[in-house]
Amino acid sequence: NAFRDGAAYVDGAFVPVGEARISILDTGFSRSDVTYDVVAVWNGAFFRLEDHLERFERSCRTLRLSPPYDRAEIARILVQLVRSSRLRSAYVETICTRGVPPPGSRDPRTFENSFFAYAIPYVWIVPDASTTGTMDAVIARTVQRIPVTSVDPTVKNFHWADLTRGLYEAYDRGATHPILLDADGNVTEGPGYNVFAVSDGTLLTPAAGVLEGITRRTVLELAEADGIPVSVGPFGEDRLRDAVEMFATSTAGGVMPIVTLDGAPIGDGAVGPTTRHLRERYWAAHADTRYLTPVDYGDV
Ligand code: PMP
Repeated sequence: NAFRDGAAYVDGAFVPVGEARISILDTGFSRSDVTYDVVAVWNGAFFRLEDHLERFERSCRTLRLSPPYDRAEIARILVQLVRSSRLRSAYVETICTRGVPPPGSRDPRTFENSFFAYAIPYVWIVPDASTTGTMDAVIARTVQRIPVTSVDPTVKNFHWADLTRGLYEAYDRGATHPILLDADGNVTEGPGYNVFAVSDGTLLTPAAGVLEGITRRTVLELAEADGIPVSVGPFGEDRLRDAVEMFATSTAGGVMPIVTLDGAPIGDGAVGPTTRHLRERYWAAHADTRYLTPVDYGDV
């Protein structure tokens, strides 16, 4: 199977992911003029596909990008990618770029926007995050999250210079993952994940200045269903220092326990009961048909 390592959709054709090529002139590459979304396939079914497609549409609209396909056509492309790769668990990315400028033009209104997509084996921000994997976090000191007045964090984008700088700061400090603050000292997010804390029996996560992660939404829904008090609003790093538990959330790994902050253990340094419970509930939700779009692989 030539598609075993993944499948891509480029210029209207399905190709093995290793053979997918885009133009060097594409402004998604040369200007980060692009939006994207990532949806997971788990055990042969998309998880919350409609929510991801809806967020992708909203991101495109906000950036004034018009992908050449509507939502139903994109869904069909994604299903076909997974089917041809035969992957049962996959990381499926949709991308819309401003595209290639017409010769001699820099007027973005004249560009024909491009659509790309691919499916590759499921990606983990933290190895074994569904069972034993944990994060050692630092609060980034050398970099702040890019201001929301410059780049709207609710639109998925590749303006990741701040997040990547934070990641290297974390490595330099002997940790694995950064948490970035905004200019007012409010907690935001990290490279590819939202951040939660458990403090005074309440689950805290920032309301604004962050991507409205679908995993974050799932965790908030599960917490509410289970009667866990939730507070969605601004808070500073002091609330993280008071926290007895912390975790991060992403489509690429689910609920990922954070066990140290700036080198000090959170709580007793073990994965806490609320985090453990929500991680289990998150993976159990992958069997809840309300969230699933099964892929027909055409197997015998
Ligand atoms: N924040 C940022 C900056 C992200 O890029 C991502 C996902 N890639 C998230 C949060 C988590 O979002 P989701 O749960 O929808 O994957």
